[in-house]
Amino acid sequence: MKIQVSLIPEEGQQVQYTLDGDWYREYLHKGGGIDFRIQPARIAAEIHKILETVTVDISVETVLDLDCGRCLEPFTLPVQSGFRYTLVAARDDEDRKTELADEDISFGYYQDDRIDLDALIYEQIMLQVPIKPLCAEACRGLCAQCGANLNAAPCACRPGTVDSRLEALMKFKVKKQN
Ligand SMILES: [Zn+2]
Ligand SMILES: [Zn+2]
Repeated sequence: MKIQVSLIPEEGQQVQYTLDGDWYREYLHKGGGIDFRIQPARIAAEIHKILETVTVDISVETVLDLDCGRCLEPFTLPVQSGFRYTLVAARDDEDRKTELADEDISFGYYQDDRIDLDALIYEQIMLQVPIKPLCAEACRGLCAQCGANLNAAPCACRPGTVDSRLEALMKFKVKKQN
């Protein structure tokens, strides 16, 4: 949703809507792929304006479809986030990059009297995507030898054989030092 700054009423403006479909693909960085999917996102926003400074409080509720970084199985991650942006009109000589001032408050610029709420929402959702997503902290991942998903059942490989030999070797080394 795009907000026209000059039309924000003095008492503020509230919007509620749902972002559905491929809306976020518009915001993907050039050349960068995407390895997750954003399910329909419920958005509630409150927008206030003082002179040219616009404050936007946004809450977003959605679910991300991710693939586990260990077992490669798909899983879902619920996302619930509330954040505030303070936006000022961009001047030509300013760096317009939006930057995070602290954890919950971000500072940015708008241009041509317009604020793209969806771009802010996309940015916040991206912050919620883990660098290494895991279906569970205790995910056992895949067997390095046969590739079986160890969450389902132990495989026939015996990683123990390697371990015990190594253990014996280590004991030997310790003894030798003594
Ligand atoms: Zn997993
Ligand atoms: Zn195996």
